[in-house]
Amino acid sequence: MNLLDVYKELNTEAKCLAFLEHMRWPGGVKCLACESQRITRITAKGKLNKKTGRRSPDRELYQCNECRFQFTATTGTVYHDTHLPLAKWFIAIALITESKKGMSANQLKRALGVNYRTAWYLCHRIRKAMIEPNAPKLRGVVEVDETYIGGKQRGHRGKLRNKDVVIGVRERGGDLRLVQTPDNKADTVYRVIADNVAKDAQGLMTDESTIYDFRLTQFKDVPHRQIKHRDKIYVQGDVHTNTVESAFSLFKRGLTGAFHKVSLKHLQRYLNEFSWRFNNRKNPDLFGLAVRRLALAGNLPYAKLIEENAFTPFVRPQQ
Ligand SMILES: [Zn+2]
Repeated sequence: MNLLDVYKELNTEAKCLAFLEHMRWPGGVKCLACESQRITRITAKGKLNKKTGRRSPDRELYQCNECRFQFTATTGTVYHDTHLPLAKWFIAIALITESKKGMSANQLKRALGVNYRTAWYLCHRIRKAMIEPNAPKLRGVVEVDETYIGGKQRGHRGKLRNKDVVIGVRERGGDLRLVQTPDNKADTVYRVIADNVAKDAQGLMTDESTIYDFRLTQFKDVPHRQIKHRDKIYVQGDVHTNTVESAFSLFKRGLTGAFHKVSLKHLQRYLNEFSWRFNNRKNPDLFGLAVRRLALAGNLPYAKLIEENAFTPFVRPQQ
């Protein structure tokens, strides 16, 4: 589904709930308490407000035939907590998954006609769904390279500003990981590789830099080929790092438009979004993917979200 489909087809709460039900339980609704699939659909009459004399809208509920638990398609999900119509959630998801250069909370606020706080919450929740959780380690032929992001250097000449280093790890014909690191020292780069590459990968391709030395590491048995960029050789047979470099240049092109507004401290978030889009580039339905991910992610109230750091880097925990 694209943004236009969402406007046309998901324009009432009932249609949105039916869509969410399908995305959340593709094999049929399951009880959230006991997992039974014996469910009855019931309509709960809206409550009468005695002061205003108005009745709140009726609610469609599922009731479990086994344990009598009552729930809806949004129960226990992030969609439940916000009191925001699902139609607005879905438009926000379509806007953010389709905007390649990122969308600010202010833009979303105007597009949806909601307040800034709501828009900010939506942006952060949706972006968190655009990260591959428990992404598998790469095991084919893996190219590794480093690049430097950002404008002109300020301060100490010749010294890298810490936040500018990005390590790219890409399996040929497969997935990409981009990780912002504090420096480009061998240990730092190695940790990123160990986090993202299986120790029985088919091969490692890097340039000739001395930071890539795997002889005393868990990759000692993985064939390691190095291309000599210093000698202006970029491809030698199948020895090259061109596929990870092309991902870098694609990322940098996309970043140019958004970057003057966005501080480098959000760089990892951009890297995550970019990698997620890149790795799902053959999936025609990024919208559906994000809707489902958000439904399965569980609830995260606003207060907890602002306690958290703004992003989760794409580094796996040490094993
Ligand atoms: Zn049940």
